[in-house]
Amino acid sequence: MPQIAIAPCRRMTDYLEAVRRSGGEPFELDYHRDAPAKVLQEAAGLMLTGGGDIDPALYGEAPHPSFQASEPGRDEYEVALIRAAATAKLPIFAICRGMQVLNVALGGTLVQDIPTQVSGAADHSVPDPRYHLAHEVWVTKGSQLAEVMAEKLDGDACQVNSRHHQAVKEVAPGWEISATAPDGVIEAIEQRGDIFRVAVQWHPENFWRTGEFRPLFEAFIDAARQRKAL
Ligand code: MN
Repeated sequence: MPQIAIAPCRRMTDYLEAVRRSGGEPFELDYHRDAPAKVLQEAAGLMLTGGGDIDPALYGEAPHPSFQASEPGRDEYEVALIRAAATAKLPIFAICRGMQVLNVALGGTLVQDIPTQVSGAADHSVPDPRYHLAHEVWVTKGSQLAEVMAEKLDGDACQVNSRHHQAVKEVAPGWEISATAPDGVIEAIEQRGDIFRVAVQWHPENFWRTGEFRPLFEAFIDAARQRKAL
């Protein structure tokens, strides 16, 4: 089974379960133990997980009043890891904060606080995203996300859960928007090409029991398996 490195997260259970159910062997990274160079030697794929705000200094902005520094050392570790993985052509699947830190690590910026900075925004923060769908997303025609999720889409749309107050603003160079919410908030980005590089703002891992987003996990694990076979 391909080894999937998973960035540290306080809510790890559903990520582990979703990866296992799709044929991957997850291992949890530790900031202190797992230097990026070592991770790249051992992992066939990198999964980036949810969490708190990213230090806005990393994309050249002063902090919004809502900013809360959450986990010391996590930003720096993940930025180094993402840059190394991007160069090493490792398949990457990024979720929620994972999408945000990936975008920042590769040169993009963030909306720091959707409720105060996006006029007419929907509610992107529901009480329990394990069980509550929050809003629709419109998936970009011709994107890798559209191809992978084809059988689950209703036209170009699908329903997602949501637990975020930040979002991607300027997309990192070489990446493209692959889904947006009806209020304009960017909900997924991807790097076109032959490596699996997809990032989503919602929490597909919460749906491992019912499988709404299993095709995404399976496409990621398949890409990791092919890399391992090289
Ligand atoms: Mn959302």
